[in-house]
Amino acid sequence: MTETRVLDGRRLAEKVEQKLAGEIAAAGAKPFLAVVLAGKNEASEIYVRNKQNRCRRIGIGCEIFRLSEEVREAEILELIDELNANPEVNGIIVQLPLPAHLNTAAVLERVCPGKDVDGFQPLNAGRLASGFPGAFVPATPLGIMRLLEEAGAKFCGLHAVVIGASPIVGRPLAALLLNAGCSVSVVHDKTIEIEKITAEADILAVACGCPELVKGNWIKEGAIVIDVGINRENGRLCGDVDFSGLMGKAAVLTPVPGGVGPMTIAMLLENTWRAYKQQHNI
Ligand code: NAD
Repeated sequence: MTETRVLDGRRLAEKVEQKLAGEIAAAGAKPFLAVVLAGKNEASEIYVRNKQNRCRRIGIGCEIFRLSEEVREAEILELIDELNANPEVNGIIVQLPLPAHLNTAAVLERVCPGKDVDGFQPLNAGRLASGFPGAFVPATPLGIMRLLEEAGAKFCGLHAVVIGASPIVGRPLAALLLNAGCSVSVVHDKTIEIEKITAEADILAVACGCPELVKGNWIKEGAIVIDVGINRENGRLCGDVDFSGLMGKAAVLTPVPGGVGPMTIAMLLENTWRAYKQQHNI
């Protein structure tokens, strides 16, 4: 039986944000994040309001640029061009999902790479995938790496398994783990006998959106397990991992809520401050 350490993502995020607030105040800076929100989506509304509140708490200005559900692609591209050209705007994010008629790749590609604090622009994604320095990295995988560091993970030579291959979480996380010296396996919904692969993992990160998919018998005794999933089941919030089933077997585990979620916003704020510093040569 292993004693499981449950990582507190809220506390770590609070620490990161306090540090950022101190740096921003000391520099007398006014970083600014523009959030592009097209259409009506209840979850997106909650996410962008959370981002706005957390920005303001640490001294980052944040405005939500709202566009209608029927917005034409040319209009959203024009707004992004204006934000790209505005020197007062340091970071730009496009809240996903966009309304179905819009070409998401074309919209994300339009964001100027130096203001792409979500790291979804292909230049940043390509830099990360190639192991080149200087990329803006998507906030969720960045937050996961911080949690792993907090857990004392040594990375080098470890086998990391990532469940999920989305461009927002799984793929950039696999690149970060590879760049850190892990041997990485990425599994997804077409993978056969996932549990044989997860059972080999020293580090297991789960981002597939399947409530409590990963059971206790899927993991190796003493593994570090990061649960990225956010699922609502009968009004209850749960992750992609069977939390109670892994207690006593995983060495480290993140809770849902209170694990990866708070770290994601903290990393977005950190990216925005980094964009400001780059643009002001500080
Ligand atoms: P996505 O739907 O874009 O991608 C899901 C991935 O999981 C795909 O690669 C798919 O092939 C794989 N998958 C689906 N079912 C699977 C199965 N049964 N077995 C193995 N792989 C399977 O999702 P996403 O945007 O990457 O998000 C994944 C989860 O993470 C969701 O629950 C989402 O809400 C959550 N999320 C949380 C945060 C956060 O800040 N905590 C941020 C982003 C996403």
